[in-house]
Order: sequence, then C-alpha cells, then structure tokens
Amino acid sequence: MSPAKTSQATDGPRIGAHVSTAGHIDVALDHAKELGAEAMQIFGAAPQMWRRKTHPEPDIAAFREKAAAQGVGPNFIHGVYLTNLATADSEHLQKGIDSLTADMRLASALGVAGVIFHVGSHKGMGFDHSLPQIAKAMRQVLDDSPDDVWLCIENNAGTGDSVCSSFDEIGRVMEAIGSDRVKVCFDTCHAFSAGYDLTEIEGFELAMTEFDKEIGAANLVAVHANDSKTALGSGRDRHENIGWGTIGITGMRHVIAHPAFRNATWMLEVPGFEGGGPDQLNLKILRALRDGKRLPRIPKAPPPEERKSARGKSAKKSSAKAAAKAKPAKAKKPATKAKKKGAQRSTSQTGSRTRKG
Ligand SMILES: [Zn+2]
Repeated sequence: MSPAKTSQATDGPRIGAHVSTAGHIDVALDHAKELGAEAMQIFGAAPQMWRRKTHPEPDIAAFREKAAAQGVGPNFIHGVYLTNLATADSEHLQKGIDSLTADMRLASALGVAGVIFHVGSHKGMGFDHSLPQIAKAMRQVLDDSPDDVWLCIENNAGTGDSVCSSFDEIGRVMEAIGSDRVKVCFDTCHAFSAGYDLTEIEGFELAMTEFDKEIGAANLVAVHANDSKTALGSGRDRHENIGWGTIGITGMRHVIAHPAFRNATWMLEVPGFEGGGPDQLNLKILRALRDGKRLPRIPKAPPPEERKSARGKSAKKSSAKAAAKAKPAKAKKPATKAKKKGAQRSTSQTGSRTRKG
C-alpha cells in the first residue's frame, strides 16, 4: 500500500510551507489556510528535544477533518533534529530510531504521507563504515511502523561529516534497505550548498540525470523550497527567502520546471520577508513560477545587519546563532572539501561528477 495522495488541483507541484502546531496539532491547518498553502510540513514533536507529548485523539481527528475539508496535502512530518542514525553511540542511535518510529506512527494516524529526516553525521568514521548501521536502523523503523507512510531521506548541505549530501550516498542507503517506502526530500538550499549548481541549466540537468540514476526520479516525493544565504558548495545550511539568495529566481525556475519535481510536494522553510517564517509572498513567488505567471514584486534584500534587527524574536535567535557560527574569514574552499569527500568515498565516485563543491 502506498500513502494516500490528495487530488492534484493544479497543473504542477503542490506548493506549501512548514507551519507551526503550537497549542494543538490541528492548528497547523488553520495556519495553512491563512497562508494559502496547498500542502504543509509540521513537526511531530519539539525538534530540539527527545521528550515528546502525546497528541489527544480529538486533535488528531480534527487534523484529519480539516485537512480533508481544506484539500491540503500531501502533508509531511519533519523528524527531530537530534536523530543521528550514523552515530557511534548506541543509546543515541536507539533514541533516533524510537523518535522516527513515533513520528511514522503519528503520520499514519494523521493521514500524513511521510516523515522527512536527516540521516545524520558519521563524525569522521566515514560513510562506508556507517552504511550498514543506517540501513539496519531504517529497516527497523519501517518494520515497526504502519505501511501507509513513507520514510523520506532529506539531502544534507554537506556540513562537516554529514551523510547523504550527495545523490550517490542517498542512492546507496536506499539500495541497502531495498524498500519502496523509502523516498527522498530534495532541499534546494542543501543541494546548492553541497555543490549542485541549480543556477546553470546544463549543470542542473546533468545533476538531475545523476539523481535519476542513483535514486530514481519517481522517488522524489517532497521538496524543501529554500533559497540559500551562502555560495555554491559552501557546505553550510542557511536558508533564505525565495529570490533573495544565491540560487535566486533563475535557479528556482529551473527546478520547478523540471519534470522530476512536478509530482513532489513543495514546502517552504524560509525565514520570511518579515522574519516570521514562511509567508504569503514566498508562496506567491513559487506559484507564479509554477504557473508561468508574472512574478509579484519582491522587496529589495536589505543588507544582512538590517535584516537581523527587522526580524521577529525566533528569527533573531536563529540569526544570532548563525552569526556566532559564521567564520569571520571567507568560506571554506569547496575544492578542499571535494578532495576530502572523494577520499572517503571508496566505492563510488559518481557524486562528484555534477557537483562543484
Ligand atoms: Zn530542509
């Protein structure tokens, strides 16, 4: 059985956003309605902690009713950030497996299509070393959860020793598991930061040929639609509003027009033009690109310092965190990183072919 899909009203991908569930899980649908989102992503639990609250049955029923009445979907749950299936710490590994399993069960109860998660970081042990453990852990999650939900690997930005930032690593994890319930979420910001150039049409098409070969275009079920604050191949995970970043309108136009992305659900995870998270304008831009309509007016991007002070509380916190992390010197040289990655990859070199990172 495959996850239920909401009927496609438009000629192109469904365009939605990550929305808050603060209070009760069904309020996510109220936020989706306010935004005009055609689909949405939510957290099943607070993303920075292991402890999770149980959602009362009436809230779950209300979620299902509102989603059906509003025609919002397919929807997704984003797993907690602490999960690391490549960790050497067995207790940490088990917590990640339990958390993913709980999210999969919640997804099924809510009628949500799947759970999107970051596989994690091997912390220097290498991808080949971690692969059997990752596959075993994901198989366990699939075995212990209802079969009407997908487990979706999200591509990483290539930060540090993160796994699955290249299409060949994602493909190898999928091959090792051998389940048609394992799908992929393509984050445009992460792909660009990992060295896949979305702004050059030839390069992008080559990258997607590689995606199809390693992963299979039909397995692309979700898109995190984010522009990037950092350069191609930076290895950094800094989301930007659509049109304000280094991918720009040109890159986003390439992606949304590509046939592999047509049936995937698009979800924004951007800071928002007013700093309050995904907003109507970001959604409008994506819809205009999808429908071949004139773009709405996009405000000129303020310099980074002004953007910080114009933001709301939560955005301020995240930009402060990002600023603390940012190095004063120029970004890490992509060439060095590519060499290091190539050396770690003993059996496959295909990932570096279309990557400029
Ligand atoms: Zn993402």
